Amino acid sequence: MKLNNRGLLIVISGPSGVGKGTVRKALFEKTDHNLTYSVSMTTRKIRPGEVDGKDYYFVSKDEFEQKIKDGKLLEHAEFVGNYYGTPLDKVNEQLEQGKEVVLEIEVEGASQVKAKMPDCVMIFIAPPSKEELYNRLKARGTESEDVIQARIAKANREFKKACLYDYIVVNDEVSNAADRIMAIIRAEHARTTRILDNYLKLIED
Ligand code: 5GP
Repeated sequence: MKLNNRGLLIVISGPSGVGKGTVRKALFEKTDHNLTYSVSMTTRKIRPGEVDGKDYYFVSKDEFEQKIKDGKLLEHAEFVGNYYGTPLDKVNEQLEQGKEVVLEIEVEGASQVKAKMPDCVMIFIAPPSKEELYNRLKARGTESEDVIQARIAKANREFKKACLYDYIVVNDEVSNAADRIMAIIRAEHARTTRILDNYLKLIED
């Protein structure tokens, strides 16, 4: 029986190269869930294999700045020279439909979400070691050496921000990390503060 009809807002962060995207895909491949991914907007160049409207909405700097002015973004941040942000309307709509909305965003944006929607669930994905992360970033082969170095420097700053999160999930094995996130989501649905009102109605004489 479900005592909480509103979906959860789940914020997933972690340093670049930690495998957030892969963990998220493994999570969505599981059955028996009501997860939906919030597609972000970015000014970064599209990478080979990426699809506009599925991986990101790829927009110009001017378009992005207009969205900020119009208050159309739940949060936004600059990451290694590009803007990234979460379209607000979709998130609200989907939460009201009872969907669990997953944001995969960097730490600055995540703290803006926490400030605006404090009942979100904040999950930090950590690598098993720093070396592993550097190797993964280099192996991706889609960025220049300068960009890789900038992302490593950024990752080193991001490691320290894990304390802002409700949960830290180590991505040792993708399927384990996805299992842990699913367990967190299930437990969050039973959190007293989320269900107390409905529970009290249930037991009232
Ligand atoms: P990438 O360029 O590798 O796709 O993403 C770079 C970083 O931006 C990643 O840490 C990713 O999670 C983050 N990111 C993606 N979308 C958003 C967003 O909408 N807002 C914020 N703040 N960060 C985002």
